[in-house]
Amino acid sequence: MLTQIIIEQHLVVIGLKEGELMATHNWCHNPKCHTYQTTDRVRGSGDNKVLRTRRVKIHDYQNAYYYQGWENHFCRVACFFAYVKLHIDRIVAIAPVKEPSETPIKVEKEKVQTRRFDWNRQEYYNDTSTRTKIIGERHE
Ligand SMILES: [Zn+2]
Repeated sequence: MLTQIIIEQHLVVIGLKEGELMATHNWCHNPKCHTYQTTDRVRGSGDNKVLRTRRVKIHDYQNAYYYQGWENHFCRVACFFAYVKLHIDRIVAIAPVKEPSETPIKVEKEKVQTRRFDWNRQEYYNDTSTRTKIIGERHE
């Protein structure tokens, strides 16, 4: 009875109803994940063995600098790209890009000393040229 009360209180504290436990894992979303023949995917006993889709532990990666957003849904980057390849038309249809975007920038011309090779005379010589250097974004 006391255990039941404690469990119910815990669920209330984290904002869940009874029987609605927070997921700790996802199944890898690559529909072919279960077809890759690795020993860690083998489940079952005796003559009833199967290759099963991998489970992916859910981590709070929000503040990790390397977090790309796919890590909690795919067991590895190859499975992520298999999914992208399969669904790419629908993925880009979510937010289609019909025209280029532009970022206003400031540029500066600068003279650059370069060393070149003259193939006719078979010798190096100094040369100057100008190149465009991006100073930064322009905020109006
Ligand atoms: Zn996978």
